[in-house]
Order: sequence, then structure tokens, then C-alpha cells
Amino acid sequence: MRNSILIIAFLFNIIVGLGQSNQPVLYVFSGSDWCIPCMEFKKDILEDSVFVSTVGDHVLLEVVDFPQKTRGISKSELARRDSLAALYNEEGAFPKVVLVQGTSVIRINHHVKSANTFLEEVKQFVIPHEVKAAFQSKLKMGSHFSLHLCNGKEEDFKAAWDEIDRIENSISSWKDSSEISSINRNAGFAPVKVSKEVMDLIVYCMNLHSVTQGAFDISIKPGLKIWDWKKGIVPSDSLLKATQRLVNLNNVVINEDSSTVYLKVKGMSLDLGSIGKGYSAMKVAELWKDRGIESGVINAGGDLYMFGEACDIDLWSIGIKNPFKDNEVIFTSNQTNVSVATSGDYERYFEVDSVRYSHIIDPKTLQPVKGMASVTVFASNPVLADALATALSVLGVEAGKDLINQMEGVEAIIIQHSGKVYYSKGVKQSE
Ligand code: ADP
Ligand code: MG
Repeated sequence: MRNSILIIAFLFNIIVGLGQSNQPVLYVFSGSDWCIPCMEFKKDILEDSVFVSTVGDHVLLEVVDFPQKTRGISKSELARRDSLAALYNEEGAFPKVVLVQGTSVIRINHHVKSANTFLEEVKQFVIPHEVKAAFQSKLKMGSHFSLHLCNGKEEDFKAAWDEIDRIENSISSWKDSSEISSINRNAGFAPVKVSKEVMDLIVYCMNLHSVTQGAFDISIKPGLKIWDWKKGIVPSDSLLKATQRLVNLNNVVINEDSSTVYLKVKGMSLDLGSIGKGYSAMKVAELWKDRGIESGVINAGGDLYMFGEACDIDLWSIGIKNPFKDNEVIFTSNQTNVSVATSGDYERYFEVDSVRYSHIIDPKTLQPVKGMASVTVFASNPVLADALATALSVLGVEAGKDLINQMEGVEAIIIQHSGKVYYSKGVKQSE
């Protein structure tokens, strides 16, 4: 994994298991072969299909049974049931229903008519499952994503993963049903109506195209496809030439009033791979902030975004390692509300006849970039950081540094294959 080599986010004490600490448990004290109201409660409520299918979303259910006939039940199990009764059913009422959550014990009314009303009764006492600090990771967009949050709920993770899937489905040029694929299919044929979100992203990328003097170009896809990463095939000169006219963002026509995008030349196609991760990080942070979460870290395949103050931790810091020296950390930072994106060819590349080819292409020559081992960009906006890391890989050290040094609040560290490290003006090197 690129990020495991390059970026180490030290997140102390942040990994706390979910689903164990504060899960509410609904205990039903019952006498299954002698207590008639218990049998009725079981039949009418506990075995009701609505109840069975939805109760697990809210609580763990345990029927603590005290039958007259105890044959077949182990001594230790009987003892366990006794101790539960000692804790929650001292008076020996049957049936008795209690909801136990953390230190709170609430008796639930079981004199209800339907499974639905019983569930409503239970739900009003279930405190949303708060977690102090938590971590989850998954494979998304072909990369390893991990999410860390403070004082959030399990649902916050689900919402975040759903959001990442939603973004991928909308902007991936590898998914036939995405809006970007629809634009690509209609190249040279017709303008395609897109959502405001996709339009805003394309406009953002167009601005970056001009800021980077064409080094950043999302119409790069035809130039990517001629380099066969898997088979290790290098394109012929004639193929390079023929493809060149398909890569030019100036041939992308947008109409913001009608919200349409049109690729003028047949065979053109867009690819937002250079900002997908940064954009996901930004959207997850926005979503979490809307849900009242004050701090978290999103690691989108090595592109990090941190916001708010670290929870339960003295420090969350970013360390940039020297890829050529195993244990050398060349830069550390304890900042928050910052994003860090890295593009590098030493982890994602292919090799033909011992020559390494990057997956970042110079739009002017359609050649994979050479010479840069890794480019790390710091910015407050994760999309900008992600895009600039790609752009700087194309621009090279001198032009790249010039660009970064003109931009307010953006810093970069560039490591060349020679082992030389360049820092932008505002980066303080580690001692
Ligand atoms: P990573 O995916 O390793 O984080 P990047 O963020 O730099 O790397 O994105 C690389 C991707 O960007 C490529 O896989 C390709 O889809 C796209 N791309 C390649 N060259 C360019 C370019 N010059 N401008 C914009 N996008 C590019
Ligand atoms: Mg990028």
C-alpha cells in the first residue's frame, strides 16, 4: 500500500471496538413451561415476524428462561441465569422485561397488544449507540480507505461508506452507469445533462487545468489507455500522435445554464481518478460535520484529511517517510483541519525493460511522468491537495515549486528519484 510506506498517521488510542461497549440488551425473564403470560408474550410478541426482523437493529435480545424442567441445561448456564436474575429480577416477576444499557436498567411494559407497540416502547429508551473514538477500514475506489472519528455513532460510519459509494457510482469513468461514463459515451455526438455536483467538479478541474498550465487535465483518459499497464505494452509513435488530439480540456464544452457537458471530439473521454479520493475525503468530512461530529480523520487511499481536535489523544500527526531510507521520517506535522495528498510513481507503476512508467501522464506528450518518486501536497481543501499532487508530478520540481509558492495555504514536499528532497517555502523540515 502506498500510504503505508509514505504516510503514517499516528492515531493514538483511537481504535476502540465498536458494538461491544454500550450495546443495549433486552432481557426477557420467562418460565417457558409453567408461566402462561410468558408463553403468550412469546407467541404474540417475541415470535412475531415484525419483531424478529427488526429487533436486532435496536437491541440484543436474550430470553432468560427458568423452566421447571431443567434437564439438558448445564449447571453453569443455570448459574448464569441466576446471576442475571439477581441483578435484574430480584423480585422474581414473570414475565419481566428489562432493557440494560451501560449502567442504566429500565423495566419495559410488556402488557402491550402488538409486536409493533412493544418495539416502540423499547425504542424510546434505546440511547443511540455512542462511541468515543472509532475506526473502520474498507477497500474503496481500488484503494485502502480508513475512517476515524471521535464521539460519533456507528451510523456515522455507514453514512460515510454510503457516501463514498455514491461518489464512485457518479464519477468513476470505469462504471458504465456513472455520469462521467455517459459524457464519455456521447463524445463527438451530443451534450449530456449532468448533476450540479458533477458540473461543479468539472468546472473546478477546468480552473485547475488553467492554473497548472495544462499539466492537470481530466481529459487524459485516452492517453492513459494507450499505455497497457497490465500487459506492459508501450504505444507506438503513430498511436501516440493519433491519441494526442483526443487529450485537450479546451475541447470540453460546458453549459452551466442547461447543465450539460459535451466532448467535442469522438474518442475523447474524461477521468476524475486524480481527485476521486480527495473529493471523497472532503464529502465525508462535510457529512460528518453536518451530523455534529467535531473531529475525525479520513484516509482515502493515502490522501488524508483531518478536522477538529484529536479526541482522547495527545497527538495526531502526519509523518512523511523518505522512500529511499527505510526508517527516515523527513517531515512531521501536528496540524489539524488539513489535507495531505501524495502522488508517486514508486508504488503505482509498471515496468517494461527495466523502465518504470507512472500512471500519471503528461498531457502534452502523453508520456508517463519520470523523475519524481513522490509528491506530497498540504492544503486545507482535500480536492485541491489531491489534484495538485498529480499536477506537480507532471510539472516537475522547478515549475511545481514555483506554482506552490504562489498559492496561499498550500505547501509541498517533492522527492526525486535521485533522493533529493525539495520543500516549499512554508514547510519546516524535521531536525
Ligand atoms: P493516486 O491514484 O495514486 O492517488 P493520483 O491522485 O495522482 O494518484 O491520480 C492518478 C490518476 O489521475 C491516474 O490514475 C489517472 O486516472 C489520472 N491522471 C493521470 N495523469 C493525469 C493528469 N495529467 N491530469 C489529471 N489526471 C491525471
Ligand atoms: Mg491526485
